Amino acid sequence: MEPVLGVNIPGGTNLAALEGALARIAADGWQAAELNLSSCPLIIGGRLQTPVADYMKAVMDKFPLHYTAHVGYGLDLRSADPIHRQVMEASLEACAALGIDRLNFHYEEHSRDHRQERQFLDWMREACDLGQDLGVRVNIENIEVEDVRYALDAVKALDHPNCGMTLDLGHLWLSAHYFGYDYLPAVAACAPYVRHLHVNDNDGVFEPMRLTNQQLYNTLDKGYRFAFSRGDIHIPPLWGTAPLREAFSLLKQARYDGIWLCEYYSHLFHPLNDSIRRQVLDAIQTA
Ligand SMILES: [Zn+2]
Repeated sequence: MEPVLGVNIPGGTNLAALEGALARIAADGWQAAELNLSSCPLIIGGRLQTPVADYMKAVMDKFPLHYTAHVGYGLDLRSADPIHRQVMEASLEACAALGIDRLNFHYEEHSRDHRQERQFLDWMREACDLGQDLGVRVNIENIEVEDVRYALDAVKALDHPNCGMTLDLGHLWLSAHYFGYDYLPAVAACAPYVRHLHVNDNDGVFEPMRLTNQQLYNTLDKGYRFAFSRGDIHIPPLWGTAPLREAFSLLKQARYDGIWLCEYYSHLFHPLNDSIRRQVLDAIQTA
């Protein structure tokens, strides 16, 4: 079976720009596209905005793409503020309205506060149940600021038929360096639980500012971060130092049959995206 390759819709793609972005993605040969739910005003005050969803669905239906989604910025399932729960529910409703069948949630950082951890698992379980009713698969993604085993343990603890793992191979490379564990054994441990993949690269250089001052971190210029390899730079797969070919091989051995979603700043590489896609496809097929 041919692997299905996708790419994320560039961050900040608003309603007016959506059609152009999807046309480029389809023209570059990708078969799937991932939407960050906060790039368009789909959710306001924790409520799904049906006119926005209807407009987007009509645009998305023009292209022969499989769509996946990522929860929007700021969602924190350990927050004491109940609006986070509303946004979580609205995110799943948005996916259902848009015909999106899988949604990523970041694990974020493990909390030492047991109540927060219990709430995280309780809300994730609710998300899995609601997603099951709506036909939306829920996946928990590892991020670079935490040891991957916490995200994996959460998936195991939930033990829910509608819950899997999104393995982000770039986040894992940074986390393995920062927290001091071996990359490929971690890929192998996660592989049986992986239902979605984020394929991207970096040089394994953790950026401490991500933990000490995220607001300043978010303002750093992308070109500067590329040039000096600062942190989670989401460069095209095979452009950094993560052993992606070996990881692909382990995922194939585990019979991964989901989408290989290349999550990089594709708008910065625009004329090269078709050749990047071909190189990743070749690497997967030969792994
Ligand atoms: Zn990711």
